[in-house]
Amino acid sequence: MRKPFIAANWKMHKTVEDAVKFVEEVQHRLPSEDVLTCGIAAHFLALYPMVQKTKGINLGVIAQNSYGEFSGPYTGEVSPRALAAAGVQYVMCGHIERRTLFHEDNTMVAKKVAAVLQCGMTPIICTDETMVQQEFNGEVHYVFAQLMDVLSEVSFDQVKNIIISYEPSWAVGVGQHANPTLAEEGCRLIRRSIADTYSYEVADKIRILYGGSVNPENIQLIMSKRDIDGVLIGRASLDADNFLTMVDRVA
Ligand code: PGA
Repeated sequence: MRKPFIAANWKMHKTVEDAVKFVEEVQHRLPSEDVLTCGIAAHFLALYPMVQKTKGINLGVIAQNSYGEFSGPYTGEVSPRALAAAGVQYVMCGHIERRTLFHEDNTMVAKKVAAVLQCGMTPIICTDETMVQQEFNGEVHYVFAQLMDVLSEVSFDQVKNIIISYEPSWAVGVGQHANPTLAEEGCRLIRRSIADTYSYEVADKIRILYGGSVNPENIQLIMSKRDIDGVLIGRASLDADNFLTMVDRVA
């Protein structure tokens, strides 16, 4: 059985003080790790204080980004080695805002994924789909070429250590109700692509999350879908009570 993963993506919100306060508010109210995994993706400055604060509690610390090299003359970048040494467990790679606002392409994201794995952390690979209209019969097909490019550097042995997050551009940050049926269809097709590329056993074990306008009202329906193993929550995760409500509704 794949254990549910509930992750908050705080993006550029919250000061370090706000982040620590949030952890203090939720720390005694989280379910056991046996039930589900919780995590918070915070900006770089908040990561180390959060690692200190979350010791022994079910709240993994997630970096929202890292660079694809271990060290060197890359002013303003953060090395995955430094993140791992600080106790960070997960790194998001290729979030749609990184791709659209900061021009990250598949080659860059693939390097990040490889570097994160080498440092012993878990990449959370964010992916969207391309809709391809097949001219010969007018059917719509979804192609996860982006994901396959990013996975090109990931070996059979490593692939079991990744998490994938399906974040369709039509759903991220729009604040409308996500469409659980389309969300599940995307996750199901990703799992099938993993099965075709690696194996059914691997595809069956990998956790695939959905991200895009998840909130306390729709989380149960989204999480009831067979191929959705967790969620990456932006806006609705900023408030501690809201976050706990969503965790409780899945636990
Ligand atoms: P949202 O963001 O929940 O605000 O749509 C999701 C994300 O960007 O991960």
